[in-house]
Amino acid sequence: MENFSNGDEVQVVLEDKAIHGKYVENPDRNFVSIKLDSGYNIGIEKKKVRSMKLIKKFHAVLQKKEAVKEEKGKKKIVILHTGGTISSAVDYATGAVTPHFTPEELVAMFPEIKSIANISSRLIGNMASDDMRFAHYNLMAREIEKEVKNGADGIIITHGTDTLHYTSAALEFMLENLPIPVVLVGSQRSSDRGSSDAAMNLISACLFIAKTDFAGVSICMHKGIDDTMALVIPGTNARKMHSSRRDAFKAVNADAIAEVDCHSGSVNMIHGSYKKAEKRALKVLPFKENLKIGIAVSHPNMFASEILAFEDYDGLVLEGTGLGHFPISEIDEYTKEHKKIFSAIEKIARKMPVVMALQTIYGRVDMNVYSPGRKMQDAGVLGNFSPMTPETAFVKLAWLLSNHPKDVKKLFMENLRGEIVKRVGVQEF
Ligand code: ASP
Repeated sequence: MENFSNGDEVQVVLEDKAIHGKYVENPDRNFVSIKLDSGYNIGIEKKKVRSMKLIKKFHAVLQKKEAVKEEKGKKKIVILHTGGTISSAVDYATGAVTPHFTPEELVAMFPEIKSIANISSRLIGNMASDDMRFAHYNLMAREIEKEVKNGADGIIITHGTDTLHYTSAALEFMLENLPIPVVLVGSQRSSDRGSSDAAMNLISACLFIAKTDFAGVSICMHKGIDDTMALVIPGTNARKMHSSRRDAFKAVNADAIAEVDCHSGSVNMIHGSYKKAEKRALKVLPFKENLKIGIAVSHPNMFASEILAFEDYDGLVLEGTGLGHFPISEIDEYTKEHKKIFSAIEKIARKMPVVMALQTIYGRVDMNVYSPGRKMQDAGVLGNFSPMTPETAFVKLAWLLSNHPKDVKKLFMENLRGEIVKRVGVQEF
């Protein structure tokens, strides 16, 4: 079989049919992978392949950085790269994904975006999002502030997907009076792979900025498993819900903002009312970088020491089961530990704000339904009726402690950035 490279258009002839698509390198030498026109990838056992014909060679043109020629009438979009899979390439020898592309190369790989807007691009980090800390959020916010001052109409942040939803919530809280859209984009498959979702996500983010007057922080990623539509999700109601699927991000307890069809170029706003882009003074409200916020997860056979481990922290998120439950009832000889768990929660809640979030992810906290829930409220646990994901609750708690330390109790359940949705239940989940 002759040598093919990623992206080559090929025809694979099997015993009973011929398959047309793009060649995608497969680390398993016994298989050939083909990206079909529908966007799906299929693996074919090599021994079943009768022949394989090259139809058109793929040329990835990685151009040199060009001087940005601004075209009148087009919006100015700045892409700030922070790393993650979207700026990585697969090392086919090891199968590992490593940081690879420069900002210029990334833009050159997706020439379509230049016809949508005036694009400029720079690197502000090169990291897997698993390594993000509050200091990185502050850095991103400062870079966004610079670009807003320089007259950007919209900003795209490329970012690893693992903690993308923490960053989107963090930026939404930090960027008070944000006058333009900031769209976070990642990809589940690296940009050099035929099955990569990078191009569609990036093009869709550009279309969303170019064609709407939305202002605020959002995430733009695949809507479904094929390459047709992207979804724009609000920054404080987003969550990664799948480890590998390209449509991993869902709007939780809220509606998406828009759907983008990157083939036709159409953008469909889901609701008519949203914050509009207009001149207003952006104020960056950063995180205190030395804050320690913990997350304790409720589970069977729990011990009080799991709560007490957070004694020297500044705030704690409790991730309860069901409506927001922890094992705090001593019901028989086996559950003596539960009394200690409750005392531990009471003790911690006297020292720092403690908030409830849900392991179920979808739905609202309700600590009124069962008596242990009412006991938790008496102990000072905040967040009754919260629809926030655990990640948004974590970020909001840290941001409130950084910027409104005296008002955490008052503000935690106040809707500051769309995080406290009024109605939960009608949305898809
Ligand atoms: N671990 C990577 C990250 O979040 C995965 C990705 O980029 O999708 O940075």
